[in-house]
Amino acid sequence: GNASSIHSFGQEAGKALENARSQVAKLINAEPKEIVFTSGGTESDNFAIRGVLEANPDRKHVVTSRIEHHAVLHTIKNLEKRGLIEATFVGVDSQGVVDPGEVASAVRPDTALVTIMAANNEMGSIQPIEEIARALAGKNVVFHTDAVQALGKIPMDMKRLGVQLASFSSHKIHGPKGIGALFAARGVKIKPILTGGHHERNMRAGTENVPAIVGFGKACEIAAADLPAEVKRLAGLRDRLQKGILEKVKDVKLNGHPEKRLPNTLNLSFAYVEGESLLLSLDLKGIAVSTGSACSSGDLKPSHVLLSMGLTAEQAHGSLRFSLGRASTEGEMDRTIATVAEVVGKVRAMSPLGKGKKKNG
Ligand code: PLP
Repeated sequence: GNASSIHSFGQEAGKALENARSQVAKLINAEPKEIVFTSGGTESDNFAIRGVLEANPDRKHVVTSRIEHHAVLHTIKNLEKRGLIEATFVGVDSQGVVDPGEVASAVRPDTALVTIMAANNEMGSIQPIEEIARALAGKNVVFHTDAVQALGKIPMDMKRLGVQLASFSSHKIHGPKGIGALFAARGVKIKPILTGGHHERNMRAGTENVPAIVGFGKACEIAAADLPAEVKRLAGLRDRLQKGILEKVKDVKLNGHPEKRLPNTLNLSFAYVEGESLLLSLDLKGIAVSTGSACSSGDLKPSHVLLSMGLTAEQAHGSLRFSLGRASTEGEMDRTIATVAEVVGKVRAMSPLGKGKKKNG
């Protein structure tokens, strides 16, 4: 049934939709009415940026950071290129963290929106969102956070965080792909970007994808049930992987904040090698890693995130991201450590960058 239909089949779908909305709201400590379902993180980011600008036509300035996901960066740069807005891109320190004072001082009288991600997708650094919200207090701007990577990995409490908008995506917590949500605090000034029917309380037109929404809701329920234990387990596995690789392989640098980091993320730069070569060799051995973000893999430019943190293009090219999840085990970490050591040794021995560097360099 269509969740908007009045007949009993529609009502059943409608109930499933509202149940999922409550499950999503519960995981982030929001009201169900503050959840708008979207097609994923990318749409939620577009909705936040374009929707706030459209609701505030007299204000044309946006503040963001240099390490945002392309869903934010490309959207803002596109609007800027078309002369529709002006944007300020604040930098990060060498551990990939934004300075709240710098964000607040970038705000101008014509700033409509500040958008800073909750945690970075490439190296996992957690951003000081609560501090930024405090620094923005009284400035009359809408504060949005792209919390796609943070969901289910660290506690997300919309009543505490101090943001008015937040983006989420189901597939980051093992839910179905192509579904996500925008948290929109009651009273926030935002216009829909998809217009048409009256779905989602006039915030997002289009028949709701009920099966995917139900899957997203269930994934949130599972994540909420054991978040503290899962965070601890993942951090333990990630630390085991990090320690093992750093012990076995020379000339490896950790990227991102050593502590204030997502528990499931490990980003390392391997000197004298290309990350792509390592990725392909590890893939042949059944180990899936990424260079940069999954969305920009295949594009040979060095990661904008790592360059913003002060890495050289060569260091950025030699970086790999290891992501852990619910299915990850200690045995997998140990196999990955041994395989990475073997593969790095082989690739370095063949690489012109690592000439003369036998074994692990
Ligand atoms: N924002 C961040 C931080 C992400 O990591 C991603 C996906 O990787 C997105 C946005 C885009 O989300 P989606 O793939 O659901 O469109």
